[in-house]
Amino acid sequence: MSPASTNIFTLTHNSKLPDLLETNEKWNAKTTEEHPTLFRDFNANGQAPHTLFIGCSDSRYNENCLGVIPGEIFTWKTIANIVSEKDLTCRATLEFAINVLKVNKVVLCGHTDCGGINTCLTHKRSALNNGECNHLYQYLQDLDDLYHENKSEVMAATKDTKLQSRMLSRLNVQKQVTKLLAIDTVKNALSRGEIEVYGLLYDVGTGLVEQISETTA
Ligand SMILES: [Zn+2]
Repeated sequence: MSPASTNIFTLTHNSKLPDLLETNEKWNAKTTEEHPTLFRDFNANGQAPHTLFIGCSDSRYNENCLGVIPGEIFTWKTIANIVSEKDLTCRATLEFAINVLKVNKVVLCGHTDCGGINTCLTHKRSALNNGECNHLYQYLQDLDDLYHENKSEVMAATKDTKLQSRMLSRLNVQKQVTKLLAIDTVKNALSRGEIEVYGLLYDVGTGLVEQISETTA
């Protein structure tokens, strides 16, 4: 972020509850003007999302990068878009989105400049094991493994840490998609031809999405 540029964001660290309520009203008015029937005729009557979006919790992107409006996408965001069959939230989200909501697309969208990846890439993960971030330290084990498994390839490819980070983001999407495909709920729906699974990478510097993988029945 350029410190010299004028703040363009809606709220800041100084914002309090009344500010949030006010910006909600403005957002509501703008959205209603653009889509007069959205809340009243669609969202008020339930949801039928076509897609499950799994992304990193990073503040710089979410399902809106696909140009959608409320009601289209069921979302689960988690640090570094790490998928695990042992994670109850992950399993419950997949079951609800696929078996109950009947989405027909599952998108796993990683992003460039991921803090989790950069932490492992710059060997700062061990500093997290300090009492305040023990769970985060533990959580990032998966990324640290990814980094060490691909370290020589990444280091040989470029000396630019931004590009190394980007390579690892791509590899992380591939790794998490592979894990996703091995989870029963996804595997079964895929074999029945009910869903397709797309691996994407969002570039925080351009706002554009790149295809990493596509899995169909
Ligand atoms: Zn991230």
